[in-house]
Amino acid sequence: MKASLLILGGTADASELAKQACNIPGLEVRVSLAGRTSQPGDISGIVRIGGFGGIDGLITYLRAENIDLLIDATHPFASQISWNAAAAVQKVGIPCLMLVRPQWEKDENDNWVEVESVQTAADILPSFAKRVFLTIGRQQLAPFAHLDNIWFLMRAIDPPSDIPLPQGKLLLARGPFSLEDEKKLLLDYEIDTIVSKNSGGSATYAKIVAARELGIKVVIVQRAAMPAGEKVADVEGAVEWLLNKLKL
Ligand code: NAP
Repeated sequence: MKASLLILGGTADASELAKQACNIPGLEVRVSLAGRTSQPGDISGIVRIGGFGGIDGLITYLRAENIDLLIDATHPFASQISWNAAAAVQKVGIPCLMLVRPQWEKDENDNWVEVESVQTAADILPSFAKRVFLTIGRQQLAPFAHLDNIWFLMRAIDPPSDIPLPQGKLLLARGPFSLEDEKKLLLDYEIDTIVSKNSGGSATYAKIVAARELGIKVVIVQRAAMPAGEKVADVEGAVEWLLNKLKL
């Protein structure tokens, strides 16, 4: 009988892991997406979309689908689902791995202001920023909406739903982004400050390098605490963990 793997997805790493896991003999691969993006792209395995309904809903799903292994490959800022997964696997008693890409480390030439939350970023901006590149996705734009003395260039994959938006311009685009394009964007729009989450990974790192080279300040939102448990930093590590669990 095949072993069943559930990957909690929503990242490029999760999609790559699903692709590689589908090539492992004797493994059935399921991928779960929250359903936030309208065009998630081609994803290998059996894909399901939408929330589970909290910890209890996830427990019910794991039992109903006879899931043997779970890999949480969600974005480092999607912490609710990670805490839910950690609680659910403990209850069901199946092995769980977190695939967490390392965060970006500050270079000596970076001009970073590290903050603990998106709200704190919004609170401090008025004291030094006039033209801001807001690259935190589309879900948490509301805290910036009342900052009337700042012009915002916002970038997201899909348009924001019905929330108050800061004044400025919205760009719809999906990474990866090149250093050259990021520098041009910052110069064209005369950006003096970037607001970014410390997402890690290479797909959106070019803006950090561009800011470094142009001497632009970056307000960088730090990650929240993750649940305890086994963690790897990349897809290769996750595949190795799988092979080990399957004793292949
Ligand atoms: P979150 O705050 O951790 O989760 C909120 C709720 O969304 C969860 O309680 C769960 O609903 C549902 N959910 C999240 N991920 C899910 C998944 N993979 N499969 C099924 N349900 C899921 O998450 P978020 O920050 O809204 O992010 C949502 C998704 O977007 C994540 O999968 C993440 O990988 C991706 N993403 C997030 C960011 C970011 O900056 N937050 C950036 C890029 C991609 P129930 O409680 O009903 O199960």
